[in-house]
This record gives sequence, C-alpha cells and structure tokens, in this order.
Amino acid sequence: MFTFKRNQFQVEDVLVRDIVEKVGTPVYIYSKNRILDNFKLFDQAFNSLPHLICYALKANSNLSVARTLAVAGAGTDIVSGGELYRALASGFRAKKIVFSGVGKTKDEMRYALRAGILMFNVESSEELNVLNEVAGVMKKKARVAIRVNPNVEADTHHHITTGKQENKFGIHKNTLLDVYKNAKKLHNIELHGLQAHIGSQITSVKPYVELLTILLDFIDKLAKQGIVLKTLDIGGGLGITYDKEVPPTPQDLALALTPLLRERPLTLLFEPGRFMVGNSGILVTQVLYRKEAGEKTFVIVDAAMNDLARPALYDAYHEITPLVQDRRAQRVVDVVGPICESGDYFARQRKIPFPKCGEYLAILSAGAYGFAMSSQYNSRPRVAEVMADGKYWKIIRKRESLKDLIRGEK
Ligand SMILES: *Cc1c(COP(=O)(O)O)cnc(C)c1O
Repeated sequence: MFTFKRNQFQVEDVLVRDIVEKVGTPVYIYSKNRILDNFKLFDQAFNSLPHLICYALKANSNLSVARTLAVAGAGTDIVSGGELYRALASGFRAKKIVFSGVGKTKDEMRYALRAGILMFNVESSEELNVLNEVAGVMKKKARVAIRVNPNVEADTHHHITTGKQENKFGIHKNTLLDVYKNAKKLHNIELHGLQAHIGSQITSVKPYVELLTILLDFIDKLAKQGIVLKTLDIGGGLGITYDKEVPPTPQDLALALTPLLRERPLTLLFEPGRFMVGNSGILVTQVLYRKEAGEKTFVIVDAAMNDLARPALYDAYHEITPLVQDRRAQRVVDVVGPICESGDYFARQRKIPFPKCGEYLAILSAGAYGFAMSSQYNSRPRVAEVMADGKYWKIIRKRESLKDLIRGEK
C-alpha cells in the first residue's frame, strides 16, 4: 500500500506529496486497507479454531484506526481506563475487550465492570483480591484470566521482552496453580482463562510454540484440580519487517500452533498490536537543513523524537526515503530532529539519496508505537494524522495548535 508509481511515492492510490502539501509536515499517514488486510490475514489464518483477535490498542489508539478494526470484527486489548474510553468510543463491543496491565486502579476496574468487558488479565494475587472486592461492592462477577510469566525467551530487544522472570509482568509460573486455587474461592471472580505475552517484535515461531506448550501443560494441570478454563490468550508480539527481518506470517504461526490445539475446547485469543498497524503507517517530514561536520553529514528534519520515539528509545531502524525516485547520488548521513537531545535521531550513518533543502522524506513502518508514544516535549504540538482509503484520504487527527500546548495550565 506504500509504493512508488511512476517514481512518485504513493499511499494506496494517493500521492503522498498531495497530502503533505495540504496538511503540512510532520504528518502520520495510514493506509486503511493495509490495516484491514493485516487483520484479515491474521483472522483467516486461525479460521479452523474458535478464536478472537484483540488488537492491542496501545500500538495506535487513534479513533479512526481503532474503528477500522472494530468494524472489521476485531476485539481489543486495553491497558488503561483511557484506552477503555477510546475502545468504547471507537465502537469495540464490550464483550470483545480484554484488560491487561500490572497496575489497574479500582476506578479502572469499576469502569470496566460497568462496561461489561470480556475479561481482566490479572497480574498479581493482590490485584485479584482487589478486583474481587470491587466486583463484590458492585454485585458483579469479574471474568478473569491470570497472566503467567512463563520464563520464555522472546529473542527481541531487552526493553520489549516481557516473558522472562526478571520482567515485572505476570505471575511466576511456580505459584500459578496456587493463585488459581485461591482465586476459585473468591465469590466475585469467574475464572475464564489463562494469558501470557512474552514480548514484542518476535521474528520466529519458536517462542510461540514453546509458550503454547507451557500454557497447555498448565491448562491440563488446572483441569486436574477441577479448574476448567475457556480461553487461552497467547498475547501479541508478532514482528514486522523494518529492515531485513523476515518474521513469520500469521499463516506460519497457525501452521505451527493449530496442531497443538486440535480437540481442545478452548477459544484462542491473540493480542497483536505492531503486526496490525506497524507497516500500515508512515511519518512524513521535511528537510530543514543539511550540514557537514568533519566526517559527518547531518540532515536536519522537522520531525523529532517527540513525534517518533522508537529510534531514541530502542535504537530502532526505520527505512527513510524521499518521495521521488530518481538517479541522484546517495550519501551516508545522520537524519536528526530539532530537539535538544543527542538521542534525537531517525537514522545514523545511513546511505540514502541525498535530499535537498525543503524536500520531503518518508519514515517508513511508523504506524505502531509512533504517534501513540508521541509527546509535546520541547513544546512541540503533536502532529496531524491522515488516513488514506483507495483514492481518498482524510485528516483523522488535527495538528495541535499552540493553544493546545498550554490547555489546562495556570
Ligand atoms: C503491548 C502488548 C501487546 C501487543 O504487543 P505487539 O508487540 O504490539 O503485538 C499485547 N498484549 C499485551 C499484554 C501487551 O502489553
């Protein structure tokens, strides 16, 4: 959905240049049909099993992005009351919402119980007790899956691995059975499932097979104790191509996992975030200045780490391309933003077609954890977001104004 046609960079059937000239830069641009294709790919891969795909809203929580997936039939995985608000506003059915996170507040629990969400992914015994108490006061039953920390290596960046013992997530596997046994005694808890999420940007099926094997073993042990679960949620984490990675497709994943699940009366849940939206979005920025400094050449652009934090946070790679394809010379450059931090960069020592002053550059694969992680650091208003659909496009979030920067302040 993002390709060069007649040497001009397009999103679906729209020239990126046309959008940028009307909306200005920096701007995030998403492809609606790429998002839909990603969802369908995942959904159809697991057609032979009862399953529900709960899009991890934190990857990109824009209302129009979320609505696109809600209308297509996805559920959603939320991690805060704010995300519940967004999920409901964008049309996700409450019965398709799961609530993850190690630190849910009582207010958030009440909000979710009132909304009637599918279930809470509970991450500690204390959380379970508080949820029981909150549900009791409301005379409700909270459906629950317990999140286990399976101690599985996801083979990814240490900041985005979540299924190892040293990570804060889930309940230690040695205590899991006891937690379920205790949970069974709680009157306002309905034990519904088992959940795990081992990390992000996973590029092989191996960790998933390992995880599923561990989880099924727990399901069997629990069944022996008289605890029969209905759902098994293996989280998100499926990787995408940023550079040269070759992650498994959902089809590959299904081929590896489906045989393990035959004949089991379980509904399988997934919580993919990055996979759904990562390659469905770009960030377009304008070159302000170029400068030579000894050995180095810097290309200074009008987007910055506040708009897209992944390079600064994770040393993440994002491909960068001008909006026109031509025969110009390539140069090794650092692409950097205007923020007063040395970590404010998009590429280091990268060979790209040397851009002109004022030219636009597209930073690719920016649809996940891009805008969602953006801030106003350095008092930079958050950028606009656009969604393309065939030959049409529209602004799905207005560029913030200077007034937005000080709203609510005294
Ligand atoms: C972040 C997160 C996800 C989504 O991860 P991706 O790598 O974007 O697929 C899913 N589940 C939980 C609990 C998460 O915290």
